Amino acid sequence: MNSECNPSDIAMKSMFLGPQSENADWFREMIESVLSHTVRWRQARFPNDGRAISASDMNIDEFRHFRDRMSGALQDLLRSLEAETPKFTPRYIGHMVSENSLPALLAEFALLLHNPNNASKESAKVGLVLEKHGIEALARMVGFEPRSARGHFTSCGTIANFEAIWRASHWFDRKFSLALNLIERKLYSPQDLFTLCHVTHDRWASLLEEHQISEPDLAARSLLRNGPWDLPTHEILGTSFRGPVFLVPGNRHYSWPKSAAVFGLGTASAWSIDLDEEGRLDLQDLKAKIEKARREQRPILCVISVAGTTELGEVDPIASVQDLLDEYQSRENLSFWHHVDGAYGGFLTCLRKGKASDTTSNTGMTTSSESPDASLASSLLDGAMDESILRALHGIERVDSVTIDPHKLGYVPYACGAFIARDEAHYATFQVQAPYLKQSPESQSGWSSTLEGSRSAAGAAAVWLTAKTMSLDRNGFGRILTKTIAARMTFAQAIANVAGAQLVSPADTNILCFSIAPSGSTLAQANERTRAVYDRIEAGPQFSVSRTTLLRTNYAKMITRLCQEWGIRDDGVSDLLVIRLVLMNPFIVSKEMMVDFSREFANELLNQMRSATPSSGAE
Ligand SMILES: *Cc1c(COP(=O)(O)O)cnc(C)c1O
Repeated sequence: MNSECNPSDIAMKSMFLGPQSENADWFREMIESVLSHTVRWRQARFPNDGRAISASDMNIDEFRHFRDRMSGALQDLLRSLEAETPKFTPRYIGHMVSENSLPALLAEFALLLHNPNNASKESAKVGLVLEKHGIEALARMVGFEPRSARGHFTSCGTIANFEAIWRASHWFDRKFSLALNLIERKLYSPQDLFTLCHVTHDRWASLLEEHQISEPDLAARSLLRNGPWDLPTHEILGTSFRGPVFLVPGNRHYSWPKSAAVFGLGTASAWSIDLDEEGRLDLQDLKAKIEKARREQRPILCVISVAGTTELGEVDPIASVQDLLDEYQSRENLSFWHHVDGAYGGFLTCLRKGKASDTTSNTGMTTSSESPDASLASSLLDGAMDESILRALHGIERVDSVTIDPHKLGYVPYACGAFIARDEAHYATFQVQAPYLKQSPESQSGWSSTLEGSRSAAGAAAVWLTAKTMSLDRNGFGRILTKTIAARMTFAQAIANVAGAQLVSPADTNILCFSIAPSGSTLAQANERTRAVYDRIEAGPQFSVSRTTLLRTNYAKMITRLCQEWGIRDDGVSDLLVIRLVLMNPFIVSKEMMVDFSREFANELLNQMRSATPSSGAE
């Protein structure tokens, strides 16, 4: 299991500053080179313009006074930052953030000095090119054809998820307005509404042509243009239209119900897909929800599955979800948009097996058969990650769009998310005109087709430089991620040895949750103890952890199973509180460090459990 003898794994250590700033000399040199480059670039750009700030200017008292104030205030700022949460250390295992990688930091610093605004070509000649290449790298990573994929960087995963709903709403509206036109002209019946809202894009275009429906016809029946209040839907359909829904599993991130509110769909339109007893999207229930929507004539904007849930890091059966949707397509001509929320786990697609053995070939990736070095990385992974999880991650190449947060497992600084669609059609949205910004005619990318206005190119450059430095696959960036999964295994072993601590299974990726649930206790007692132990760990200086509550409304089956496995009494009403470890720091299992963090954590846990145990309730 020791991967550290492998030179390729040792080389990964060059990617981060290090817990003791081990790579500081090289990093300082690179920062200096970025700065000198900008300085020279300015000087060479308009050399005959002359100096605006002279040596004598710099000598006057007021000038110096401002400099002193600046440097004084800067020192204050730096001092105040000493109290900031130390997220660089392997002892920080709380939330979805750790070290930033050096390529990401250096690219961001360079871009900070240039400050392009990717809202427009005029202010981002290079920024937009970097964005294009950055998106291509991510598209290739997830398995999309990079030449046809479209996307852009956002400030976070929440906005990327909003982008998915925005674009899916656009297509829904195009199909819905056509459907209303066709039904109004008695060419179709109101019972055809659901079917008409789920034709393929091609079929939609041919229906439009066949029946000579014009853009003004569509506009007259567009929900997005007229709002739900001004449309004669009741007259046309003979019944009130209750609006579209979207299907999202119970393990969803909070951004999904938020999006339903923001886009005016109503939070009740976010239909929850049940979870199975392992906490993943339940396929049977997905099917049942699709059928329910069909019965109720509620078109489905999109079906969402999650790669790396926020709470447990689990991966939904993405490939099987796509299989089911493909079946609807081939058997019933119903086309559904499948979006994967890979805000956390999107980068884990690096770990997909080499494509050589793949059945699908048009991924645009050149592959060689795996080198001995790569197979070592594979064997390290094979025990750590279930085949079914790898298959699910592989399924992402078949879906329509993906959210990925480089500011999570991409080790890029905030704020950097990304939305990527498999093709132009899934990227399309309403064109909004801004007379003062130049539009590129060949593509929509630019201000008019993003939710956000002004956008930094820094995250795009960070992803670009990361992908240039190491390939976004098993043998490159995947090595870092493999180590984090190994860290999850090591911590799981250590915690399993602590009597009374119970691990939440399954742990698909690098997030590990556990409860303090001595057998024989009730679920409520377990929650109480878990909370007390969490509070004590958090109050202490040793480790930063997080906690989360698995709600019974979503995780009922899983809670019942875990209570049985742990031998605790399920009262049938309590939720399950767990301590959550996000093991994404690349140095958690570093051989040279003085501390064995997993053992140290188990000790800390033991100590805090002892002191948190009320004397009356001692085992
Ligand atoms: C973190 C996360 C989000 C939201 O991302 P932000 O960047 O925090 O807005 C969405 N979905 C999942 C699954 C996440 O883990």
